Amino acid sequence: MLHIYELVDLLNKQNCKPYYVGGCVRDKYLGRKPSDYDLTVEALPEKICEVLNAAGLTPDTDGIAFGTVTVGTAEGLIEITTHRKDGAYKDSRKPETVTFTSDLSQDLARRDFTINAMAMTPDGSLIDPFNGLSDLKKSLLRCVGDAAVRFEEDALRMLRAARFVSKLDLEPDPDLLAGMKQRAAGVAALSDARVGSELTGMWLSDHPEKGYRLLVETGLWPVLFPGLNIDSDMDALASMPRSLVPRLSFVLWGQSTNPVYQFLRRMALPKNLFDDVLLVTTAEKIELYPDPKALRRQIRTYGDLLLDVVAVRSARGEDMDSVKTIVQHELDIKSCVTIAGLQVSGDDLMELGFPAGRGIGITLSYLLDRVMDDPALNQKEKLLSIASEFGKTEGYLF
Ligand code: ATP
Ligand code: MG
Repeated sequence: MLHIYELVDLLNKQNCKPYYVGGCVRDKYLGRKPSDYDLTVEALPEKICEVLNAAGLTPDTDGIAFGTVTVGTAEGLIEITTHRKDGAYKDSRKPETVTFTSDLSQDLARRDFTINAMAMTPDGSLIDPFNGLSDLKKSLLRCVGDAAVRFEEDALRMLRAARFVSKLDLEPDPDLLAGMKQRAAGVAALSDARVGSELTGMWLSDHPEKGYRLLVETGLWPVLFPGLNIDSDMDALASMPRSLVPRLSFVLWGQSTNPVYQFLRRMALPKNLFDDVLLVTTAEKIELYPDPKALRRQIRTYGDLLLDVVAVRSARGEDMDSVKTIVQHELDIKSCVTIAGLQVSGDDLMELGFPAGRGIGITLSYLLDRVMDDPALNQKEKLLSIASEFGKTEGYLF
């Protein structure tokens, strides 16, 4: 499959004037692998399509009205966008009109942050009219132009700011901070899906506590998540497993139910994650002490999520080391914690003489209880013998 540099070479030879742009240029200087590549070109989209078609590639033209042609390469889908200067913004989201330009610096000027407004020629020369590289070296997140204006045009940029400080360990520039404070109310109108996707990136990054602090300090937090108390102690978040359930449960620890629901809806979580976070956050007070018998019973309720409960409680300052070792072990050896995991079934009990009815369920529950105390009992012969004794005492067997 075609590589990105081969695509750039092709566009260059056909005089389309391509440049690498945005996150991929920034990531190159950071020594990070880009999550995706964007190209900006001087040529118009129709010409890009012609060139790609002539080379036997099949571009996707869904975004052509905005100047974007997409093509698959070994590095994933590449968006090739003709230099644009964006027109007026109406709904603080998409520009009303898109105007193409042959001036690369105008295209760079519409981009959100200086570190994202760098371009690179096919032979590796940097074009950096807003001193993004110098900001990057200073770990500074700065808007292209006046922050308050840029955030008014598009409120999503404020959440992108929270994501970038978290992901790239940056400090917000004072003008960016002031702009966010001024435009905080703008994030109320963003869709849940857009909020969820930017903030998911933030929570899963190396420094989620930095983005959180930025949202709090600038007043975005209560606009996004009304009713959630501000928690000054988020530093431990970064040391938690890099997945949403433990991290969000940590954030929501000790909060009241309604704001928690609202938070999860605003994060646009899929149903399974929504339910898992809720379950873990409600496990604040369950008893967890290092006793396998007791912990198997918690595994029965929480399954794998018990590890997340343990991670949250340990990040919140409880000593969970021995509990964690036992839980991990019980999960690894797949200890029996369900009736389905027993080595006998209702049919086996009927063969033993149990009449159909409630007695079977009660007996199976009793067997499970015994097995959770002593996993070595989970063998057919042993269970049948316990069942037969139990059946007689309880009057199910004569
Ligand atoms: P990531 O590593 O998450 O991909 P990125 O900077 O590449 O970060 P993208 O969403 O892929 O982010 O966008 C590519 C580029 O498009 C950005 O680097 C930036 O130049 C520009 N851009 C994206 N979203 C906006 C926006 N809301 N406002 C202005 N420019 C934007
Ligand atoms: Mg990108």
